[in-house]
Amino acid sequence: MAYIVAEPCIGTKDHACVDVCPVECFYEGEDIILIHPDECIDCGACEPECPVTAIFEATQVPEQWKDYIAKNADPFKDGGHGLPVSVQKSVWEAQREEEGSVANLYYKKYPKKE
Ligand code: SF4
Ligand code: SF4
Repeated sequence: MAYIVAEPCIGTKDHACVDVCPVECFYEGEDIILIHPDECIDCGACEPECPVTAIFEATQVPEQWKDYIAKNADPFKDGGHGLPVSVQKSVWEAQREEEGSVANLYYKKYPKKE
């Protein structure tokens, strides 16, 4: 079982997890960052890096976010998924300032929760 990203990522998506993943298995989902279930090696390095506690080992996902197990896995079914590999945090933050970039548009659509 892989690690899972759940609801708290929405509106934060700061890419801190990407910087520590040894196998680059984070991808850009619409509202959250996604972990490829077949590429994740269950090292656990990303879990403590998340500022909003959005990352869980699959057996530890809180009840209200169990559907995020499928949400992380479904885009990767049948091999090709076409999702971009997530960039490092510094790159994402720089892109955020660029009008019209993926990161810039993301925060317009999913403003940070207070
Ligand atoms: S560190 Fe947490 S909030 Fe940031 S992108 Fe990763 S899962 Fe989302
Ligand atoms: S548990 Fe390890 S391999 Fe899996 S997403 Fe997190 S850092 Fe990457």
